[in-house]
Amino acid sequence: MPGRPLFIGCESDKHMAVPLSFDADTIPPPRTDAGRALLENPPDEDLFIGAARLPADGGGYIESRDPASGRLIARIARGGPRDVDAAVAAARRALEGPWSAMTPRERSRILYRTADLIDAHADALSELETLDQGKPWSVSRWAEIPAAAHQFRFFAGQALSIEGRTIAPSLTYQPKGREVHAWTLREPVGVVAAITPWNSPLVLTAMKLAPALAAGCAVVHKPAELTSLTALRLAELLTEAGLPEGAINVVTGLGGEAGAALAANPGVDKIAFTGSTATGRAIAAAGAGNLNRVSLELGGKSPAVVLADADLDLVIPGVANAIFFNAGQVCVANSRAYIHRSVYDKVVAGVAEYGARMRMGHGLARDTEMGPVVSPAQADRIEDYLRGAQKDGAAILSGGERLGPRGAFIQPTIVAQTRPEMRIVREEVFGPVLVAEPFDEPDDALAAANDTEFGLAASVWTRDFSSAQRFSRHLRAGVVWINGHSLFDAAMPVGGIRQSGYGRDSGVTALDNYLEWKTVCAVV
Ligand code: NAD
Repeated sequence: MPGRPLFIGCESDKHMAVPLSFDADTIPPPRTDAGRALLENPPDEDLFIGAARLPADGGGYIESRDPASGRLIARIARGGPRDVDAAVAAARRALEGPWSAMTPRERSRILYRTADLIDAHADALSELETLDQGKPWSVSRWAEIPAAAHQFRFFAGQALSIEGRTIAPSLTYQPKGREVHAWTLREPVGVVAAITPWNSPLVLTAMKLAPALAAGCAVVHKPAELTSLTALRLAELLTEAGLPEGAINVVTGLGGEAGAALAANPGVDKIAFTGSTATGRAIAAAGAGNLNRVSLELGGKSPAVVLADADLDLVIPGVANAIFFNAGQVCVANSRAYIHRSVYDKVVAGVAEYGARMRMGHGLARDTEMGPVVSPAQADRIEDYLRGAQKDGAAILSGGERLGPRGAFIQPTIVAQTRPEMRIVREEVFGPVLVAEPFDEPDDALAAANDTEFGLAASVWTRDFSSAQRFSRHLRAGVVWINGHSLFDAAMPVGGIRQSGYGRDSGVTALDNYLEWKTVCAVV
């Protein structure tokens, strides 16, 4: 399907959408046994409970398909409430048995070994992720799988330095001739329910499992139904690394079945969720019934503010990459850009050109830069936002079309001439769609950036230190970048405020999600 002119009314007119590099019947051959197995003989993937692979209690499976071609790649066990009960019981047994008896050094070693195993199997894991999710192999292999290993290494280190405090109490009660001492202990919360989404499956799983296991918790993981393959493989690698039976369990299945049953299970002590705001609300309500601790990493509509003095050599690739990477299926993606009028045309033309030059195609092709979105249904959703925006009077400056045999590819797209109340400005599209609007006064940009119910991330682009400082203080978000966007590291906390949730993944503070304080007070 030919692309249409990408940027109307500027010199980028000459750039056409890069045609897809595959046809409907051709999938680039996988290079690992794991990848080949998915295409040649799609496996039945059973649950992982107490280190055993078991079919779901109801015996059902969900089909998992390559988003680009629609080809069946696996059938995933459709877990339900009884499977969740079994997994929670296995996790409880691990907590009461060998897992809690391990020293921090033993826990740390297991996590280091897991990181090494992820590295050793990185090619295979990357092909699983790409075939399951659609993302380019280069993204899996060079960004996300290494980032998952890095999470395990970071928290392997943290497992060794969990510590309480000593306290000097001012008690009025002092038994004669005795002293009162007090201190705190940090103890694992218990059984953690980790529920994760489909956009970056392995790394988002690692962001829950690594700190939870470093803290000594046992985990029941419910991966997204569209992308469960690397979660199951990770459970096997953890076990190979020496994690005792039951410390990790994976119950695959649908959100409304396995997910809802896990969130409501009374044997769960803590829920760690990443996903949409709507599901986050349901999970918070389910957790409240059991007075569970809950952390929620939810959606966003993150702004980038480009001031007049910004370095455009940084801005153009930075803003483009942060919305087009992973086909825009990134929770912190800068889906809104407020650009000073004096540089607006240049930035928009540059971002459009960056998008036009991205090679779209099957994720397994080594030179693919943008794959399909996760499913045709997700592409329907994105298209609905685009057509709705046009109907409301917005202009599509570049891209805007669906491509590919199943229509699962969305061109890198820029939308302008929007109004603040439009859905495309207010709601999370979760696709490669940038809303770009000009501003005249920095205060107007700040107000527009903060005019959202979300508060996950934001960026400001400027050469001026005072402006950077001011914006970083006043942008309402859990993460603010200066002259960059979507920069992640296992050591840097990430998470949101307002409708983007609460709690933080990554960084030392993520351990707090999985640790309780216990106070000990002694008369000696
Ligand atoms: P989703 O909310 O539909 O699903 C997430 C997970 O929750 C899946 O495993 C799903 O099966 C499960 N689930 C669905 N309904 C459930 C229920 N009633 N009870 C329990 N579990 C249930 O999200 P998604 O579509 O898979 O992922 C995209 C969303 O995730 C986007 O909104 C994105 O912004 C968000 N996300 C946030 C972050 C972050 O760190 N803030 C990171 C990545 C993705």
